[in-house]
Amino acid sequence: MKVIASSPLFLMHYYEYVHPIFTDAGIDMDAAFPGLELHLVRPQDMPEGGANSHRPHYNPGTNRIYIPVVDLIDVPKSTKWHAKRGLIGHETGHAVHTLHMPANSKACPKWQKFGAISGSPLDFSWREKNVAGKPYPYVLAFEEFADEFSYWLNGRRPGQKYSEFYFSLWGQEVPEEKGEIAEEMKKIEMWIDSKSYRIDGQERVMDTAPVIIGNRTMVPVRFIAEALGMRVDWDDGERKVTISR
Ligand SMILES: [Zn+2]
Repeated sequence: MKVIASSPLFLMHYYEYVHPIFTDAGIDMDAAFPGLELHLVRPQDMPEGGANSHRPHYNPGTNRIYIPVVDLIDVPKSTKWHAKRGLIGHETGHAVHTLHMPANSKACPKWQKFGAISGSPLDFSWREKNVAGKPYPYVLAFEEFADEFSYWLNGRRPGQKYSEFYFSLWGQEVPEEKGEIAEEMKKIEMWIDSKSYRIDGQERVMDTAPVIIGNRTMVPVRFIAEALGMRVDWDDGERKVTISR
């Protein structure tokens, strides 16, 4: 992916506002958007006027996304970008569709998978609506894909199924969730031969006590694991402990 900015300030805005949208989602932009050009321009320099001049616009014929930027230094930060996160995500969704789901039919397995996880009706018929007094033709399935992509990109569609589907489009693995365990990590205090223990300073009692056997300190795994939000199952027949999330 290539970023083209009509002013050095716009490039700075790109790293401040747009780049984090993709990096937060763990997307390798070069792999996800090969050959795509992201143009940062003044609203009046948008290639299509009217309804499109103040919102991001994807131009399939040229593989370009245009994002309108206001560069006045004295306007509030939030108004510098006419384009909002959701709209940038939506237009990027159209780019992802063109780049990675080129077979626009119900027979395409990628569309089927998308339909299955999103519950989208996959309506490929052309429709028309009025945008700024002009008829605007669109295909519902494409728009729903773009919306779903935007929701996922902006964290409104969390979940393994969504991640797996979107990363599989460009052959990437779902990035590992970082810091999940670290955030939930609690302070657990136990004492040898004492059934009392503490989680984050709160006094608790367990049905057994840590002991020293030989040179090893043995602690009950159930109370450690459950304190960390894990589930512990004991299978008597197999004499097996299963710890799961
Ligand atoms: Zn759209």
